[in-house]
Parts: sequence; structure tokens; C-alpha cells
Amino acid sequence: MLVSKLPDKGTTIFTVMSKLASDHNAINLSQGFPDFQAPAALLERVAHYTSAGFNQYAPMSGVQELKEQIASKVTDLYSRQVLADSEVTVTPGATEALFCAISTIIHPGDEAIIFDPAYDTYEPAITLNGGVTHHINMRYPEFKIDWDMVRDKVNNRTRLIIINTPHNPTGSIWGESDIESLQKIVEGTQICVISDEVYEHIVFDAHTHQSIHSYPELAKRSYIISSFGKTYHTTGWRLGYCIAPQALTSEFQRVHQFVNFSTNTPMQYAVADFLRDCPEHHEELADFYQHKRDLFCGLLAPSRFKLLPSSGTFFQLMEYSAISSMADTDLANHITIKHKVASIPVSIFYRDPPEQKILRFCFAKSDQTLEAAARILNQL
Ligand code: PMP
Ligand code: GLN
Repeated sequence: MLVSKLPDKGTTIFTVMSKLASDHNAINLSQGFPDFQAPAALLERVAHYTSAGFNQYAPMSGVQELKEQIASKVTDLYSRQVLADSEVTVTPGATEALFCAISTIIHPGDEAIIFDPAYDTYEPAITLNGGVTHHINMRYPEFKIDWDMVRDKVNNRTRLIIINTPHNPTGSIWGESDIESLQKIVEGTQICVISDEVYEHIVFDAHTHQSIHSYPELAKRSYIISSFGKTYHTTGWRLGYCIAPQALTSEFQRVHQFVNFSTNTPMQYAVADFLRDCPEHHEELADFYQHKRDLFCGLLAPSRFKLLPSSGTFFQLMEYSAISSMADTDLANHITIKHKVASIPVSIFYRDPPEQKILRFCFAKSDQTLEAAARILNQL
């Protein structure tokens, strides 16, 4: 009776591996979420707004106070003036923003370019809108983009390039030269850019996040998406946002209003207050996660895994050819069930996976959890 629109897609790997971890009582370093609490002052604001009765529909594009705080945050961070009223949309997580932005841009037959390993929501949204996805593998082991390959793939049907820095799952980050290459390629074309910047505050080793907000020419054709889930350790609140020029935002909101209509109300007021009262909070994140990365990598120094460089996000890639010749999906299952540490097999982020065998581990966990996981992984 029903013909699947996504016949090649099963349940997401994040759901599969978190369930496996829970079923087998394993330490869950698979799905990316922190095991620490949100800032106390923010939780207090949520309690305040829920009990004060802010529990009905929010405005479709977002609570005004929050849109204004988002606009001023973008100005402070990236020196870009953003109009709260017509260029900002608050969304239920970056996931909904990605889906709406892709749906806004892609008509049947349009082509989109994504870089593998790619976050798993991009391609299904392109497919559901009748688009064609071109995958370009990033170069191992630094996971840099080969811009000649991008130039070769672009044609007059290309409508979208999706970028993601800092990058999930690899932890690689863009330099200025990447932005310059992208800018040259899209100049004079009808190509839109979706810039997934959900890890914008988690960049290590004194590098700077290259935001499209800082590049006015690119920003004119871009939907820039971020998420409070990463910044405040609140992935379950489903709170993200999308910034784009007025004409692009207006088309985005045409779609968004029919997907989720609006985003949950008390959390929006709470985050608006918190952004106003503690605007510097995000400045701690990079050091906080760099400490986690260094701790985790230090603990794993004696292991037989080869640790790949991670310059941002809260993920660490580990190459395991010295340990096993199993496929990464099989090994991830095996380590979860037998040794009780769950990870994500990186091949699932590819259309054509390379021969390297890699697992992704999330280090957004307490030091004790990372120590317990490392003790196990060092035995493999
Ligand atoms: N993009 C990337 C690269 C992500 O890693 C994630 C989730 N971790 C998202 C988008 C979705 O973010 P959200 O939880 O706000 O929907
Ligand atoms: N983005 C998270 C990750 O990469 C998972 C998000 C989800 O489960 N939808 O692990």
C-alpha cells in the first residue's frame, strides 16, 4: 500500500547505538549529547516561565526577546547586523531548521553537494524534496575539502552546497582559504549555501571559527543554522535557529509554519533572559571541551587505536586497523555488547566509504565516564 520515500534509510544510527548501549548497559559514547547539567541560572528561568504560565504557542518565527538576543549575539561575535524581525527564525532544534532550509531551496531535479562523511539529516531532506545529492569525500586523514572536485561537480542544476564547520563527525574545521574557495565557486551562480554551525563555540587550540556571518558576500545567499542544544548542554530542549537575509527567511518561514509552526515557548523566554544576563557563557565552552578532548586522548595513549586530530566539536575519531579487520558497523556492535562501550561507525556518514576503518567517540562526558571508557578501550 505504501511506497517508501526513503527505502534506503533505516532507523538513524544515533537511535540504534543509544538503544544498543542501553540494552547492554554499556557506556554510551555514541550519540552526541553531554552528560552534564545546563547552567543553574538557565534552569531557574525555565522553572520561572513554566510556572508563570508561558505555556501556549509562541509566535511562528520565535519569541521577540529571543530573536533580539540572537541578533545581538551575532553582531557581537561576527560584526554582522542581523534584523531580528525579518532575518531570524527560532526552530525546534537545528534539525528542523536544516529540513526547512533544504525544503525551501530544493525543487525536483535540483542538485545539491554535500561533503562526506556528512551529518545524516542532509541527504534524506534533499531526497524527500526530489533533489539529487552529489557526495564529495573529504581528504583523509585531515578531512579537508578538495575544491577542484567541487568545481568539477558544479553545473547549472546545482542549487545548494551544504557546509559544516566545526565538522561532525570528524572534528575538522575550515580555514579562511576554504571560505575563499567556496566564495569563488558560487559567485555568479544561483547556488544557495546552508552553513551548519551548531558547534560554532567548540573550536580548539586557539583556532577561530570561520562563520559565514563574517563573509557578507556569502551571507547574502546563505542559511546559517545553530543550536542552543550544544551551547547550553540541552540537546533535549530542541532549540535552534536559522539566520538568512529577508527574502530567504520569508521563504523559509513559509515552510517552517507548516512543519512545526513554532518552537516551545518557556525555553525561548528562558534562553532570552540567559543570553541577556550571561552573554559571555559560551566563552567557556572551547576550553571546557578542549580539556575533555585532551583528557580522553591522554587516557587512550596506550591503546592500539590511532587517534585522528580533532580541532572542534565533542567528537574524537579513532582508526582501529591495528585492532580488528571487522567492518566498523560490526565492530561498533561488538565493542558495545562485549566490552560495554558504544561508539558510532563512521562509514554510515558516507555514500562511498573509504577503506580506513574508523569509529567516532563522543567525549562530552564526565571525567569519570571517560576514564572508565578508556580503561576498557585500552584493553582492545
Ligand atoms: N548538525 C550537526 C552537525 C549536528 O551534529 C547536530 C546534532 N548534534 C545537528 C545538526 C542537530 O542539532 P539539534 O540537536 O539542535 O537538532
Ligand atoms: N548530532 C548528534 C550526533 O551526532 C545526534 C543527534 C540525534 O540523535 N539526532 O551524535
